[in-house]
Amino acid sequence: MNADLQDLYQEIILEHNRSPRNSGVLEDATGEAHGNNPLCGDRVTVHVRVEEGNVADVRFDARGCAISIASASMMTEALKGKTVADASDASARFVAGLTSKDAIDGDGLGELAALSGVRKFPARVKCATLAWHTFCAALNGSGEEVTTE
Ligand code: ZN
Repeated sequence: MNADLQDLYQEIILEHNRSPRNSGVLEDATGEAHGNNPLCGDRVTVHVRVEEGNVADVRFDARGCAISIASASMMTEALKGKTVADASDASARFVAGLTSKDAIDGDGLGELAALSGVRKFPARVKCATLAWHTFCAALNGSGEEVTTE
């Protein structure tokens, strides 16, 4: 494995892929959305439960590559317990951080910074951002499928 790929598949990503956090269905969800990344074949469903303006719970069900699953897993840990406004803002900043040419702002991202390695691989950026776009759609309750294409 060359150095770039090692960077991409950091241990933390592999670990989240092996044992995803908050995976499964949320029975009492207040919103859900489906995401599709046809380029890679990643599919994700995100369920959220919003209570009094807070993201009380968030779960996901994903089929796809290690990057897409690890990103969804890390996302649930990062966003659970935040206010809806903060969670939306954090999602927007994460997506912007991966898609802009500027250096990623690692502040407050914690282990999400592990995903910054995908920036060198534009096709994989879609894998990493899919769950986050889908989370925003679930918050908005649009019910539409989110696609990266
Ligand atoms: Zn993928």
